[in-house]
Amino acid sequence: MNIHEYQAKELLADFGVGIPAGHAALTVEEAVEAAKKLPGPLYVVKAQIHAGGRGKGKFKELGPDAKGGVRLAKSIDEVRADAQDMLGNTLVTVQTGDEGKQVNRLYVTDGVDIAEEYYLALLVDRASGQVAMVVSTEGGMDIEDVAHSTPEKITTITIDPAQGFMPHHGRAVAFALKLDGDLNKQAQKLAKQLYEAFMALDGEMLEINPLVETKDGKLLVLDTKMSFDGNALYRHPKVEELRDETEEDPAEVEASKHDLAYIKLDGNIGCMVNGAGLAMATMDIIKLNGAFPANFLDVGGGATTEKVTAAFKIILSDPAVEGILVNIFGGIMKCDIIADGIVAAAKEVNLSVPLVVRLEGTNVEKGKEILENSGLPIVSGDNLGDAAEKIVAQVKKAA
Ligand code: ADP
Ligand code: MG
Repeated sequence: MNIHEYQAKELLADFGVGIPAGHAALTVEEAVEAAKKLPGPLYVVKAQIHAGGRGKGKFKELGPDAKGGVRLAKSIDEVRADAQDMLGNTLVTVQTGDEGKQVNRLYVTDGVDIAEEYYLALLVDRASGQVAMVVSTEGGMDIEDVAHSTPEKITTITIDPAQGFMPHHGRAVAFALKLDGDLNKQAQKLAKQLYEAFMALDGEMLEINPLVETKDGKLLVLDTKMSFDGNALYRHPKVEELRDETEEDPAEVEASKHDLAYIKLDGNIGCMVNGAGLAMATMDIIKLNGAFPANFLDVGGGATTEKVTAAFKIILSDPAVEGILVNIFGGIMKCDIIADGIVAAAKEVNLSVPLVVRLEGTNVEKGKEILENSGLPIVSGDNLGDAAEKIVAQVKKAA
């Protein structure tokens, strides 16, 4: 789960991390009030969307010469004008895709006199089973570009969670950032606070870009992105409350309500499968037959009629879907029960695209019979290869 920049900053502040003062705003008036609470005379108005690259982004509704989603304002009036410009409009950045994201929240924060910009991120490194702290002197730019053209400017320090953060980790971070004296000490302290926050909140990723050194010698977090391990959210009700569903794909939000694992993809064949491994194999075999899956969807072990119906509705809510392949192995759940569910669901959603079903497992013959006698144009697949061939052919025929 992702959260907004201002929310991540508020969480980090609880761990003692240095953050410029700022306030969130949902309306132009709130943005003005937020600015009035800050010392000035330099303010920064920042669009809050779940995507980076806002500074260089462009608003769809404003001309190509208009400023982006991170704006320096030199007076309260400028803050008001920037807020009016941004709220409700669509910001397109390198991370949003062409459709962009509507800006519904702003963050009004202190303008900082920047001397240097650095990069610091924490990640779960699955290969080593440790926390990786990725540090670079090249802040403020795309880290992917730095990794590509000057990989020597990136240092990775791994921390064993069983041992925890040790003073030498902090020294390594400060050394990688080439900091001396008091700034070196600040970097060591900051690295420790960030590690503590990351572990305490079950973070998945915490990226600070840029971390800045101010002209008066302070290290401050100027921009941050944070995401969390969804499986650990139950331990952090305070974090769970920060979820902004307007930032998520509506079909994925609906799927999570029914405990379905759904991810939208670019193709035109909707897939409904039980088990993640089988779902991956199903997507592969659709591709092998020259078509592309419209989604990954794992209905899980207990594929009840309600779940199957919800899954059909979610698949069909995607206008790109031109056919559906159901591939279910009846192990714990018997095939006849699943077939009943499929028939009931297909009737309820008024299925308008070809449907191929491949069932295997307990009571498979009974299941196939139910599909055949349903009066619905459901095609049975004898095995996975046959089912994939059939759905691809049906979709091609309809096109
Ligand atoms: P994004 O990464 O989405 O473009 P950032 O918050 O990193 O957004 O802002 C882009 C750039 O704007 C930063 O690299 C920094 O140079 C400048 N900036 C951001 N916040 C401030 C601030 N509070 N004071 C001064 N400059 C800022
Ligand atoms: Mg940034």
